[in-house]
Amino acid sequence: MSYFDYAATQPMRQSAIDAWVNASGMLNAGAQYASGRKARSVLDDARETVAELLGCEPIEVIFTASGTEADNIAMQGLFHASSNEAGAGRIISTPIEHSAVRDTVARLEQEHGATVDLLPVGRDGHISEHSALDTPAAVATAMWANNETGAIMPVADIVARAAAAGTPVHVDAVQVVGKLPVNFHELGAATLAASAHKFGGPRGIGLLLAKRTPAPRPLMFGGGQERGIRPGTNDVAGASGLAAALKESVEQMEQETAHILALRNQLREGILGSIDDAVINTNEPSLDSHLHVSFPGTDGDSLIMLLDQRGVEAATGSACHAGVNRMSHVLEAMGVDDEQGRGSLRFTLGRLSTEADVNELLGLLPEVVALARSV
Ligand code: PLP
Repeated sequence: MSYFDYAATQPMRQSAIDAWVNASGMLNAGAQYASGRKARSVLDDARETVAELLGCEPIEVIFTASGTEADNIAMQGLFHASSNEAGAGRIISTPIEHSAVRDTVARLEQEHGATVDLLPVGRDGHISEHSALDTPAAVATAMWANNETGAIMPVADIVARAAAAGTPVHVDAVQVVGKLPVNFHELGAATLAASAHKFGGPRGIGLLLAKRTPAPRPLMFGGGQERGIRPGTNDVAGASGLAAALKESVEQMEQETAHILALRNQLREGILGSIDDAVINTNEPSLDSHLHVSFPGTDGDSLIMLLDQRGVEAATGSACHAGVNRMSHVLEAMGVDDEQGRGSLRFTLGRLSTEADVNELLGLLPEVVALARSV
């Protein structure tokens, strides 16, 4: 089996499995007695490791159950906490956000009367115009890298420009943490979301980095854990696994990136050399792991099925696209035409990808694309 869906999730790193298993017997990190203090110290270690690796203070690290939860807390919480009176009720976003942000913004629009301005995106998948940031808003958001195309956004510029208008910014860094250096304080964002399973940690635990002010208003109420921003008895094992995976990702970043980039480029050249009208939708600056390709005249679901039958796993990269033969909102925002958009696949590589995987895929693709075109 060859796996080309690392951006969806990736196998856990051994260091994360070990940390996770070692901490699995921990009891309640909120308790005052000995077993509680022990659990608390493992949780504190995980929080300190994360803070050190991501350039923030331990108190700014909020463990959540997922990237989706972190995005929800940030967007709803910052919107409701906003003290930017000049921008009251206004949200600035982009048309290519993951559904965790996109659907949250839509909810705020429908149920709380938010007005939403979207920064436009060009055919290359990058934001093409930033002037909406010069008008104050309750909150602005932009993903650091897009999950479908891998396009990297100029989030530091976005944060600085929004700050000049007094607008706090949330950055969805779920595709970036563990792949690019991240320094939360240097970035200056109010909040940042990440997810352990995207960098080799356990599924079911995520991260929200949140400045002291403005802090998101809580969506849930309870025992006051995680500064009251994400209450609930802590998942100490999950936090420990997350911290171990992040540590290894950061330590191995240079080597892993070089390995992944070489394979990704080999895949891109191989596709361009063997399938005449393939269109590459991943444009620089982009994550080294991503290659989004359109094969006009096919549809993504047929390609996924034909590859799966031959032992190769790839996807379109769009959660809402799965099972529905429709172009994704990301490609639509990029102005990709319908025929190209529907026949698209995202290949994402990771630390365990091999040259043999790439050669296997390249060997199968001409036949698979021809078959999909004949359906
Ligand atoms: N944001 C982006 C950019 C993502 O790619 C994903 C996952 O695909 C998420 C948010 C959601 O993360 P999680 O799967 O941890 O809920």
